[in-house]
Amino acid sequence: MTVMYEEALQRYEPVFGLETHVELGTRTKMFCGCAAVFGGEPNAQVCPVCLGLPGSLPVVNRVAIEYTIRIGLALNCSIASWCRFARKNYFYPDMPKNFQISQYDEPLCTEGYLDVLVGGKTVRVGIERVHLEEDTGKSLHVGSATGRIHGAEYSLVDYNRAGIPLVEIVTKPVPGTGYLAPEVAKAYVTELRDVLRTLGVSDVRMEEGSLRCDVNTSLSARGSGAWGTRTETKNVNSLRSVERAVRSEIERQAAVLDAGERVIQETRHFHEESGVTTSGRSKEEAQDYRYFPEPDLVPVAPPREWVEQIRASLPELPSARRARLIESWSVSELDYEALRNAGALDVVEQTVASGAAPADARKWWLGELARRANDSGVEVSALPITPVQVARVAELVASGALNDRLARQVIEGVLDGEGSPDEVVKARGLAVVSDEAALLAAIDEAIAASPDVAARIRDGKTAAAGVLVGAVMKATRGKADASRVRELIMDRLG
Ligand code: ZN
Ligand code: MN
Repeated sequence: MTVMYEEALQRYEPVFGLETHVELGTRTKMFCGCAAVFGGEPNAQVCPVCLGLPGSLPVVNRVAIEYTIRIGLALNCSIASWCRFARKNYFYPDMPKNFQISQYDEPLCTEGYLDVLVGGKTVRVGIERVHLEEDTGKSLHVGSATGRIHGAEYSLVDYNRAGIPLVEIVTKPVPGTGYLAPEVAKAYVTELRDVLRTLGVSDVRMEEGSLRCDVNTSLSARGSGAWGTRTETKNVNSLRSVERAVRSEIERQAAVLDAGERVIQETRHFHEESGVTTSGRSKEEAQDYRYFPEPDLVPVAPPREWVEQIRASLPELPSARRARLIESWSVSELDYEALRNAGALDVVEQTVASGAAPADARKWWLGELARRANDSGVEVSALPITPVQVARVAELVASGALNDRLARQVIEGVLDGEGSPDEVVKARGLAVVSDEAALLAAIDEAIAASPDVAARIRDGKTAAAGVLVGAVMKATRGKADASRVRELIMDRLG
């Protein structure tokens, strides 16, 4: 039983929060020298440390610490001058030590924020903490229809992933977004992914599990001021699913509350096919994990000079780039979002860098090229045409050598592998007819063919000129500059 989304929002105020786990792209694992690459033969990238064998000792991966500090700085966090790892104790077959080395009350980064753009408005999402831990192995349940453990005949475990450095990024609860809550949640993960990609610390592939989200959602009665009980939807692994998971929890919890029942604090699973969540296990409290400082590791105390060096080496972040491009392209925040959602920011920026006017670059990439990318089911950036080539097409149009119609044919030729724009123009004979004698001959023919139309224009009914322009464009197979043709016709007919 669920309540319609709009109806639920009239009575309840949603609050959401996100915990995101990111596998770092270090060469080796968090506490040993095993390779940290995806997709090897099962259990081929393991050693006594990441298998948790007795007597083995962990050593911290310095690059993982550096990457985590990069992430913390990019998210406007304070970086601890001293912190420790902690043991998080629980039993699961994919975790051979029966504890995970994580951080508890002393995380490396705290108190930051990330600004996200939704519908042209900026929403600030508070960051509670960024800490470092190790990933677990992977269980493979064989013989069940769903791939889950229920109904499985047996299970296999692959420890290649065990010990890969994992950063956990936890937001503060985000209240006050109302109807937009699912969209803001999605925009946050999108922006976070862009930040992580820009930092070069992870390949952030949600489908391969290197970026995974847990989505917390709660509802409170409007105006009550008290926050409701939250549920945690685990391992939501696409941007669209983040949005759908928040939305479906709002609908489900509203129905529970409407019936006078309590929302149970629990973990839930999101189902891609149906778009709904189902109950998992009731949620552990922190004390259930019996955290204590990891006795096998020394504390981490990053020197301030090192942190400042890392800060100085950060690349331009997505928010700074957004501000810069909105200013230099004179576009609105909504236009910018459209470009970003179309995956066209990089190509438009490169096209402008190759000499095209920003408005022209946007027009071609969001218009003709987005349409063709959509037709062939690829990203615009994957089309077989380069920003330099698009800039050349725009230049040919700006100089009057091509009109828009011919330019579209040039683009078609480039996409079909006929060569550069200039080669396509030459091979297909696509230049605008600028030879005035040829145009005048075509105009005289058109006038002779429609003497009545010519007479009306002479009488001052200039709107009729469209008929003659059309005839000339047809005669030149679209290769004339229509506005020049109109001028010549008006001259001809006084
Ligand atoms: Zn290892
Ligand atoms: Mn975690």
